Amino acid sequence: MREDIRSMTLEELTAALGEMGEPAFRGKQVFTWLHRGARSFDEMSNLSKPLREKLAERYYIPVPAVARKQVSKLDGTRKYLWELEDGNCVETVLMQYRHGNTVCISSQVGCRMGCAFCASTIGGKVRDLRPSEMLGQVMYAQLDSGRPVSNIVLMGIGEPLDNLDNVLRFLELVNHPLGMNVGMRHISLSTCGIIPGIRRLADLELQLTLSVSLHAPDSGTRSKIMPVNRAYDVEDLFAACHDYFRRTGRRISFEYAMIDGVNDADWQADLIAEKLRGMPGHANLIPLNDVAESPLKPSRRVRQFQRRLESRGVTATVRRSLGGDIDASCGQLRRKAMEIRKE
Ligand code: SAH
Repeated sequence: MREDIRSMTLEELTAALGEMGEPAFRGKQVFTWLHRGARSFDEMSNLSKPLREKLAERYYIPVPAVARKQVSKLDGTRKYLWELEDGNCVETVLMQYRHGNTVCISSQVGCRMGCAFCASTIGGKVRDLRPSEMLGQVMYAQLDSGRPVSNIVLMGIGEPLDNLDNVLRFLELVNHPLGMNVGMRHISLSTCGIIPGIRRLADLELQLTLSVSLHAPDSGTRSKIMPVNRAYDVEDLFAACHDYFRRTGRRISFEYAMIDGVNDADWQADLIAEKLRGMPGHANLIPLNDVAESPLKPSRRVRQFQRRLESRGVTATVRRSLGGDIDASCGQLRRKAMEIRKE
């Protein structure tokens, strides 16, 4: 079995090449090629042919294939459905903002968290993505679109803290000065609330932005719509968030999909404010995307809820929806592709 070379760190590459009798700078050369998007060893023109052949015997370079690409006529948002080497598909969305391009990547094929409103989890988790497969989404979305990526959000399909080792390695790779060199402050990671993972991130003191998918401040409601709450209760989650803030000094962003009659009552806004006291949190209210398979409906109280939060000292914004004409959210394109295959 050949090994995935783009998931290797610079140190690992340098060591492996050293064992093949190569000088130390060779690692840097190969790393640079890989992170510029090389698709084959033959492109690496400053390596000798015998070395390129030796590398190709031991390693392979994973390259996702574009299975489908959609470009929004409304705002230029691009959505990619990639086919991985084993035939599995994941999606990536590239959004244009005034301050640069943001790419939203997937961290797993499917998801096992089971949130009631989310299309990504229907069908469960198939497998984790490797570091190179997360990196490939950023790299090839940038190359294909011709738009330099300035921000990355781990908010696509999957639960990043359920694949934390690979995610951490991906972060190291994408942040590397000889690689894509995306600053940690330009990266956001979103979690449904896996507390040990949040604690591990706090230990590492990474400068990334942590987003927590809150969706309900009370245990009763949260357990109904997010099974993860039965393992990691929202009370403990708030405590972990306070702790994270104390240790990192980083403000946490709380995602809140507004669901009609479920989590949009004033008392829930008041409870959020109470639980965030002492920490500069920010609530990101998301108008619920209608998922065909789910009976949950979008709330009609988004603005009232926002005002209620703000009146109690919590900054709250309503997420602007991009790519509305291309299903650019929440696992919808992959679902469609899976259905088409089934037919
Ligand atoms: N598993 C991580 C990463 C996914 S991020 C997490 O849960 O945070 C995707 C965000 O979109 C999450 O906040 C998720 O809860 C939210 N989301 C999922 N389905 C949605 C829907 N139908 N409408 C609005 N937001 C949704």
